[in-house]
Amino acid sequence: MDLYKYIRNIEHFPKAGVHFKDITPLLADSAAMESCVEQLLAMIENQKIDKVAAIESRGFFFGTLLAQKLNAGFVPVRKPGKLPYKTLKEPYQLEYGMDALEIHEDAILKGERVLLHDDVLATGGTAKAACNLIEGLGGVVVQCNFLLEIEFLNGIKKLQNKPVKSLLKF
Ligand code: AMP
Repeated sequence: MDLYKYIRNIEHFPKAGVHFKDITPLLADSAAMESCVEQLLAMIENQKIDKVAAIESRGFFFGTLLAQKLNAGFVPVRKPGKLPYKTLKEPYQLEYGMDALEIHEDAILKGERVLLHDDVLATGGTAKAACNLIEGLGGVVVQCNFLLEIEFLNGIKKLQNKPVKSLLKF
């Protein structure tokens, strides 16, 4: 199934100059969702995965579904102050200013094979910070897996030496 038509472009959201990729039309269609999960799984190519780590919040939609299909555990990577237990924290650069991500310090065991998933790869700073957290706990990032990639922003460059796969490219 061609999933491009389920991605809606919203100009200047959440601020001027950003071309926001809205995945809610995809989420609203159960056949498109099912096909999307199948296509994301096909990108993983039977690799053994112990945990799927997904980034707050839109990464959670497909992250949990992928974890179920892969018989893997699910690990939320969240914005600061949201996770209740002890966390590891990783600051990262935004276009203007800084943000940070956190992970529970017992979420991934040393040597576990982790699939990182998020909805969008843009500049790559968010995914890179998530990889640092996974690796900080001793996990191995098997693949960085995205629903869609905004190619001109060249996020792949920040994820050098990691396998990066995106279903849709803009
Ligand atoms: P980046 O760190 O620049 O790769 O940004 C990736 C994160 O920001 C992801 O968690 C996305 O959900 C979100 N994001 C960045 N740019 C967009 C966009 N144009 N449309 C939708 N989400 C975006």
